[in-house]
Order: sequence, then structure tokens, then C-alpha cells
Amino acid sequence: MPSKTHAAVERFGIVRAEIEKAARAAGREPRSVTLVAITKTFAAEHILPVLESGHRVFGENRVQEAKAKWPALRERFPDIELHLVGPLQSNKAREAVALFDVIHTIDRPKIAAALAEEMAKQGRRPRLLVEINSGAEPQKAGVLPEAADAFLAECRMSYGLVIEGLMCIPPIHEPPAPHFALTAKIAKRNALKLLSMGMSADFSTAIAFGATHVRIGSAIFGPRR
Ligand SMILES: *Cc1c(COP(=O)(O)O)cnc(C)c1O
Repeated sequence: MPSKTHAAVERFGIVRAEIEKAARAAGREPRSVTLVAITKTFAAEHILPVLESGHRVFGENRVQEAKAKWPALRERFPDIELHLVGPLQSNKAREAVALFDVIHTIDRPKIAAALAEEMAKQGRRPRLLVEINSGAEPQKAGVLPEAADAFLAECRMSYGLVIEGLMCIPPIHEPPAPHFALTAKIAKRNALKLLSMGMSADFSTAIAFGATHVRIGSAIFGPRR
């Protein structure tokens, strides 16, 4: 045990406590909320203290960056669970299926098809979520809310994918609650159990609306450059 507690480990503990508090306030079990520590832009030396403290669930938003960073960390910590939370291009489907345990960002038929093909080829089955563009922002990835039910059916029927949940990133300048509520409603009517929503600024609100996975970066690792 290092004598000096690393800043990221300290902040991790504070975030963990806030998650517990938000879960209890919502009448939920704290264990029903998984903290995905988002490590994009941070090098292994910043991640290691959090790994050494016992956490194993991490997320990245780029396939290439994850590929450069995580295989070496996995050799030391084989039980790492790695989540892809950023947009996926179909030409990266092979690497994504090989590397990630959970993919949060399926949002179009081409990606669904590419993932289905790679999962069959590699015999690997990452858990899958569909991203909802809850604010219908033109620049943002994700399926429009009104197209979600049909896309979920297409994933299942045309590609044989088991989609377990939904993910959303609310518009940056709007209160997040209506977006979490809408995403939770779409999940409920499609009988999906996982809800990936809530980041450093709004995870307590997301937990009140049923988030099962909160994606937290800067509140743990500090500002990104
Ligand atoms: C970077 C990122 C996060 C973490 O954001 P913070 O505000 O630093 O907590 C969460 N989700 C996605 C999709 C991200 O790209």
C-alpha cells in the first residue's frame, strides 16, 4: 500500500460515496449502479492507482486509444471490464469486438451488421447498448427517440443482436432530467434493463431516473487537456 493516497483514488472514493447517496435517495440498492471510470486522454500511470485500489470497470471513447492503452493493463489485471462509450465506425468493428466487454453506442444498421458479423467470427459476445440522441441534436450520434423502437426491433430481427440497454448524452446546455426520463421510458417499453446515463456533472440526477451505468471521467481523473 502506498502511504500517500493518490488524488484520483481519493476522488474515486468521493464519487463512489455520492453514487451510494443518490441510489439510497432514489430507494435503490447502491450496487445496482455500476461506475464506469472514463479514462480517455489519461495515460496508464494515471489509471494504475485506481486499478490498484481495486476498481475494474473502465471506459474509453476511441477504439484506437483503447487499443494502445488497455491490452498491457489487462495483462496485469485480467479481470478488467472495458466499455466503449464513444462513436463506433464499422471499419473498427473487428477491433471493438476483440477489445471491449460492453459497447454502448450502436446507432445504425451498418454498425449493427458489422458487430453481428464480428461477434460470429470471433465467438466473442460483448454486451450491447443502443445510443439514443435524446435531444435530436444534428451533430450528435445516436438514434432519434421516435426511431428507437423500430431500430431495436431491427437489431434483433435482422441481425440477431441481443440489445440489453440504452445510452444517452443529454445536450450540454439543457437540464438533463427530461433526457434521462425519455431514455428510461424508451428502455422500459422495450423491456431493456441497462441504462447508461450520467457523467461527472449529472450522475446523481441520472441515478434518480434509473441509471444502471454512470460514466464518470473528470470527477475522478481531473480535467482533460
Ligand atoms: C468523456 C465521456 C464521459 C465522461 O465525461 P466526464 O464529464 O468527464 O465525466 C462520459 N461519457 C462519454 C460518452 C464520454 O465521451
